[in-house]
Amino acid sequence: MLTAVSRMKYLISPPFAPISKAAPSFHFFCLLSKSKFLSYPITLSNPISLPLKPPAMLSIFPIQNRCIHSNSSPSPSSGEIHVIVGPMFAGKTTTLLRRIQSEGSNGRNVAVIKSNRDTRYGLDSIVTHDGVKLPCMALPNLSSFRQKFGADAYEQLDVIGIDEAQFFEDLYDFCREAADHDGKTLIVAGLDGNYLRRSFGSVLDIIPLADSVTKLTARCELCGKRAFFTLRKTEETRIELIGGADVYMPVCRHHYVSGQAVVEAARILLESQKAECGSHM
Ligand SMILES: [Zn+2]
Repeated sequence: MLTAVSRMKYLISPPFAPISKAAPSFHFFCLLSKSKFLSYPITLSNPISLPLKPPAMLSIFPIQNRCIHSNSSPSPSSGEIHVIVGPMFAGKTTTLLRRIQSEGSNGRNVAVIKSNRDTRYGLDSIVTHDGVKLPCMALPNLSSFRQKFGADAYEQLDVIGIDEAQFFEDLYDFCREAADHDGKTLIVAGLDGNYLRRSFGSVLDIIPLADSVTKLTARCELCGKRAFFTLRKTEETRIELIGGADVYMPVCRHHYVSGQAVVEAARILLESQKAECGSHM
């Protein structure tokens, strides 16, 4: 049974195609030719490979109004904003890095920014769940990027990748300035929703600024169907709880609803046991 919502999601989220493990592995080279930042070869930490052409699910779906803009004649320096959203484990970082790598191999100067809140893989590199690794700058906010990167190096930049964009409160202002005034192409990846399926950070705020929006899906960990949501497996209720597969899993709508009910019941049970222990002391 397809509801209107799930039909709509199907239209914007084509089936997930996993990265081929069969093709030979290779190295990333010199993604930032004019800057010292990414100017050394980067080796994949796992022997996984990227297809030369991105699979269909990775294609960007232009929002309908784009044709209006493309009819006008934009200045050569006009920037672009491409947004990649989806639940955890949907391949957002992989897609971002693939786009960045593609732009770099086309001779464009690229840089990647991630939040310094996520320290799971160290602060000077960005790693996907399937092991692709690129150097990047870890920052508390985006407004400090130009100064930290260097004004001259920033001028030379063509493409800026932003990962875990939900953690940047100044996302809207940075993207608008960089694309509208500085002519940069921004590729922004982040969670559209938190574990409660509520808007996360400022990611959805930049949709009106965007040239394109891609919603990726993962595989439901419980049934293998396409997963649109992130279920938190623990009883922790903080909105920002950084974790991997130990804390979160991608789920379909059915298993989100049933999983939330189980987690909530466990939390209530745990709290009542704590209260009981407390009353015996
Ligand atoms: Zn499921």
